[in-house]
Amino acid sequence: MYDAQARQLIADLGIGRMKILFEWYAGEDVPGHKNTIGLSTTEDDGITTIIQVACGRGFSRVMRTLAHELRHSWQHHNGVYSVRGSASIWRGSTFVPKATKWRSFSGLAMAKRDFSRYQAQAHEVDARAYAEDAYKRLFEGKEPKPI
Ligand SMILES: [Zn+2]
Repeated sequence: MYDAQARQLIADLGIGRMKILFEWYAGEDVPGHKNTIGLSTTEDDGITTIIQVACGRGFSRVMRTLAHELRHSWQHHNGVYSVRGSASIWRGSTFVPKATKWRSFSGLAMAKRDFSRYQAQAHEVDARAYAEDAYKRLFEGKEPKPI
């Protein structure tokens, strides 16, 4: 659906060697995940990622979500963010330079119950900051015309 924009972001992040598969949905949420516009899963090889994006909430939301999820791919691929046992390890980025380590959330469901703590994690702060930056640089005012 937005493969051209996804390619732009992949080039921007320099992760062209990853194997990224996209699943686009027409609705407002990823099926089976209420209030969720995007999800990404990177396998332990650091290469293979599945990104699911719900496209029903408009261009700017979709672009920010796509940039956010691809930034998570970049974090995993470059070892900027990793999970070892129960520890989450952050090695620092331009947006969140300080290296930190914290106890991982047990799962997404648990994380959603404590959303402000979830949002405050270094990899989430970094993904949101990148998404804003990339949206402004690459896509602001460039919404494709409906066909
Ligand atoms: Zn995220």
